[in-house]
Amino acid sequence: MSALYLHIPFCRSKCHYCSFTSSAGCSDLFVPYVAALKKELSSIATDNLSPLQSIFFGGGTPTILASDLLTEILDSCHTLFPMAPAIEISVEANPGTVTEGSLRALAHAGVNRLSLGVQSLDDGDLKNLGRIHSADEAYAAVTAARSAGFANLNLDLMCGLPDQTVSSWQQTLDRALALQPEHLSVYQLTVESETPFAELLRSGRLSLPAEEDVIEMDRRTVQSCRDAGLIQYEISNYARPEFECRHNVNYWENGEYLAAGVSAVSCLDGVREKRTNDIRDYIGKMTAGLPVVVERECLSADASLRETVIMGLRMVRGVCRDSLRSRYGRDVAEYYGPILEKLCNLGLVELTATHLRLTERGRPLANQIMAELV
Ligand code: SF4
Repeated sequence: MSALYLHIPFCRSKCHYCSFTSSAGCSDLFVPYVAALKKELSSIATDNLSPLQSIFFGGGTPTILASDLLTEILDSCHTLFPMAPAIEISVEANPGTVTEGSLRALAHAGVNRLSLGVQSLDDGDLKNLGRIHSADEAYAAVTAARSAGFANLNLDLMCGLPDQTVSSWQQTLDRALALQPEHLSVYQLTVESETPFAELLRSGRLSLPAEEDVIEMDRRTVQSCRDAGLIQYEISNYARPEFECRHNVNYWENGEYLAAGVSAVSCLDGVREKRTNDIRDYIGKMTAGLPVVVERECLSADASLRETVIMGLRMVRGVCRDSLRSRYGRDVAEYYGPILEKLCNLGLVELTATHLRLTERGRPLANQIMAELV
């Protein structure tokens, strides 16, 4: 598997919960950033790369860039990298930044998967989150995406939001499922430090749902998605058969991936590299031909095995024991010994002849279980 991640670090304005690397109000940097990104792409395209199976434009808000700038980046990729015939090319899009025309241009450039950051279909939630769009604009974006020809559509939703109730979550979920997306991602809100939400939480002005309500929201998500024909294949992700996100599956299988752009992380030949978080620094360094990587970590075989297990347990099918053996020469049962036996006896994980996976009972406790295996 060969995958390429491209980070677009711009947004129209910052959402109140967001800790991603993105800046608002820097439209003067769009053109120089794209030039720098293309320069980095030239520098990472080496002769011996296997064909790319996926490209993912993430952010930030990639669709804040005019479609001709995104097309320019994609054209560079086509020139520089070998590509598999059935390559998956995804773009994250904010419903407040797309039109049928802009989406048509992306589809024309080869983008075949659109991931819409809907987050909620309740205007009160969207306002609380500081999103730039309304529920109606999210509906309009879905209609525009379909009209533009997108047959592989993901909707991102968030649950556990301030003032959200189990029934208001169910309503958002039902509305989203009625749009018949091929893929749905549902993330529970976590309040990250140094966000406006963190400050509101500290001062007691953020009213979050009780833990048992969030557990019930999760239970209803699994059930409603199943009823709608979307199969849970990862802790937070649901898809129709054949529509799993291949780019993300590669991450969860701890595969190798290339990356370019501000804050982007690549992992190749056991070396993980992270690029600078600063947009101007990135543009300046790329323009001057200087390195943009600010952190480099060489993973030991041991650390890599544990990561493969932890990431793989996020997938409902779990970790393939044969793949692990051929990659590291170790069997997972022998590697973890009594810790694994204990988790199996508690009914939290299941070890079959072929896979290690979380049980349905273990899935809501994934973080605690992973902490034992890390
Ligand atoms: S649109 Fe996404 S990346 Fe941008 S501020 Fe909101 S959550 Fe963060």
